[in-house]
Amino acid sequence: MSTSYFAKIALLEDGWGSDVIITVSALGEIESITTDCSQADASEILSGPLIPGMANLHSHAFQRAFAGFSEYGGNSSDSFWTWRNIMYQFVDKLDPEQARIIARQVYIEMLKAGYTSVAEFHYLHHNPTGAHYDDPAEMSHSVVHAAMDTGIAITLLPVYYRYSGFNEQQAAAGQQRFLHQPEEYHRLLDSLFAFYRSKTDIRIGIAPHSLRAVSAMDINAAVDILDGYDPEAPIHIHIAEQQQEVDDCRNHTGQRPVQHLFEHCDVDHRWCLIHATHINDQEAWELAESGAVAGLCLTTEANLGDGFFPAPLYFERKGKFGVGSDSHICVSPMNELRLLEYGQRLVHQQRAILCDQHIPSVGRTLYQGALEGGAQASGRNTGKLAVGYQADWLVLDPSNPAMFSKTNDQILDAMIFASNSNPVKDVMVSGKWQIKDGFHPMQEQSLQDYQGVLAKIIQ
Ligand SMILES: [Zn+2]
Repeated sequence: MSTSYFAKIALLEDGWGSDVIITVSALGEIESITTDCSQADASEILSGPLIPGMANLHSHAFQRAFAGFSEYGGNSSDSFWTWRNIMYQFVDKLDPEQARIIARQVYIEMLKAGYTSVAEFHYLHHNPTGAHYDDPAEMSHSVVHAAMDTGIAITLLPVYYRYSGFNEQQAAAGQQRFLHQPEEYHRLLDSLFAFYRSKTDIRIGIAPHSLRAVSAMDINAAVDILDGYDPEAPIHIHIAEQQQEVDDCRNHTGQRPVQHLFEHCDVDHRWCLIHATHINDQEAWELAESGAVAGLCLTTEANLGDGFFPAPLYFERKGKFGVGSDSHICVSPMNELRLLEYGQRLVHQQRAILCDQHIPSVGRTLYQGALEGGAQASGRNTGKLAVGYQADWLVLDPSNPAMFSKTNDQILDAMIFASNSNPVKDVMVSGKWQIKDGFHPMQEQSLQDYQGVLAKIIQ
């Protein structure tokens, strides 16, 4: 049976519509959209502006538990690499149940913040000694079950990791939980597709970790295997987060990372390049041309001191992008997009940089761009309020002072730049309410469990 919803104002595919009725099928798909309607004709009246929900295109769920434990000085060359060492010690203790509890907590936080799906770049596969669990997919099940517990849609991207550095350097002690030989990785994919391929709101793709952790040959072999299961499944990779990574890639291959990837792999719309931070003009052009998505994780990149993505150049070339909360130092699509623009303002000493004459609103340009890129990178029919798309949406809180007297694109501008508290009130994923009045039905239990896990881990 279908349900119909009335919104006074809604961001539709071709712009803002007024007095909108949207009908949603029992399977959670949008069946029809009509504007200039009477609210008396709908079964439910939405209390605020309606906008599509955001896809979170990059998450390492377990890292939520680590956030806040590494914000101290003492090492003059503190960087991503020193952070990574502390993080490795931290995760050395996690078991599958703890991983599920942490993921459940962060997925509830995501839903409340306006993310309706998550692309989980999942690399914690084995037990702390590196031995496989009885079911090699056990840790993958932990994150998928956490998504199912909370109602967020998930694109699971099991990570393919073999080496600690370019030229097949042997993996280090802290990396034993991540590793797969090619045939083991193939078996993992086989098992995951067998479990989840027919499930609603679950999509499986792959994540070759980085060019330092797998070779281009490994990547192509994994893509061939993936194609056998799903020729449209997403492919994500960490590409150029750190200058040292670029230097190492040049030293070993003679090429920069994006250049090396494009020369050796067929990068197209299925790909998402996470942290394409250190790219030159040529690489930005190639990335934009390829139709792949640049996966930007601004708050994590800021926290780790990674560097700035050259957004103005990339936007000029109509490159696709989306946002992710990555290490979960911050879980909010609004904050990611705000920092994307603010970083450029600080560098260029100008205002309103990431927009153009067609859409002068920075908020609309950023939100709509991230919706499109996020949906593509997740391999999910989402990101638009349009017929045939999943009913993944947010109702904004009209009592949030940032929303007062705002119309159309000003709503998105205020939501991103002027909200001092979360402007998201209700959240629907595939036709089901997961957040109502800012509340998730599992949140109390989740908080209690999460507190228990943290107390145990830091002992
Ligand atoms: Zn990452």
